[in-house]
Amino acid sequence: FFRPVEKISAVIETYPKGIAGFRRYTELLDTQPDIADAADAVAAANLRGEIRYEAVSFGYGVGRRVLERVDLHIPAGQTVAFVGPSGAGKTTMCSLLPRFYEVQGGRVTIDGIDIRSMTLASLRSQIGIVQQDVFLFAGTLRENIAYGRLGASEEEIRDAARRARLDGVIEALPEGLDTLIGERGVKLSGGQKQRLAIARIFLKNPPILILDEATSALDTETEKAIQQSLTELAQGRTTLVIAHRLATIRNADRIVVVETGGVSAQGTHEELMRHSPLYRRLNGAQAELLA
Ligand code: ATP
Repeated sequence: FFRPVEKISAVIETYPKGIAGFRRYTELLDTQPDIADAADAVAAANLRGEIRYEAVSFGYGVGRRVLERVDLHIPAGQTVAFVGPSGAGKTTMCSLLPRFYEVQGGRVTIDGIDIRSMTLASLRSQIGIVQQDVFLFAGTLRENIAYGRLGASEEEIRDAARRARLDGVIEALPEGLDTLIGERGVKLSGGQKQRLAIARIFLKNPPILILDEATSALDTETEKAIQQSLTELAQGRTTLVIAHRLATIRNADRIVVVETGGVSAQGTHEELMRHSPLYRRLNGAQAELLA
């Protein structure tokens, strides 16, 4: 059973659907045949997670450029929130890091190393992605968690589940970790799926995290619990958040305002309130929505 899974994950790692808004992997493999290991690619391991975008330009196809000579430095271990109007390019910025798309100008480095000189599988092994759309397959809950790192021990799986606050869910299920989920098994709620996704990443333990924050709200209790797990998950990792919540934005070490063409401003909440008219507007609109 695991063989096909392993085969797929070797190509696309653990994210068949990539970041939300990102195409299904089959389409990706069709449309981006040029994303492959360089002949002299090296395996990335134990990265600290210092990220740099240097004069990065990118557009989808031949249309207009979404990013034009974007520079961004994220020190290892920091949390950066990307904010900006819909369609500005927040997801695109994050999609370049695991090389779901290839930069067309400039470069992206991690710990000073151009990500194109790393093998794709090793690069992606260093990045965890949490998004709304969680990929589940028909199998036991244990197998679905272990998908975060094939070969993980029972102890590690249980530990990851506990840290993702999935242990209560497991206890409530008739067959615990052996419960079948997916189409013919138990149907998990949106919140439970999110926790499962978080457990997978605790298991994977990557130095870099991309968090595509949900726009649709879960109930307040669930939301709070998941936020806590996510905060814990982000501890000690370089975290890029495609942010939709004021609280996330304000808690970030740095906020990056993305506008047509790229990054228009960056700084702390206080700095941006002073210097970025767009940030002030976005912040006002958010506050109003939440009021
Ligand atoms: P949102 O907040 O709505 O998620 P965003 O800031 O994340 O928006 P992106 O998803 O990065 O924005 O999109 C930036 C631009 O690139 C948009 O004009 C979008 O239509 C376009 N775009 C995004 N993905 C693709 C794709 N796979 N193919 C073609 N164009 C795309």
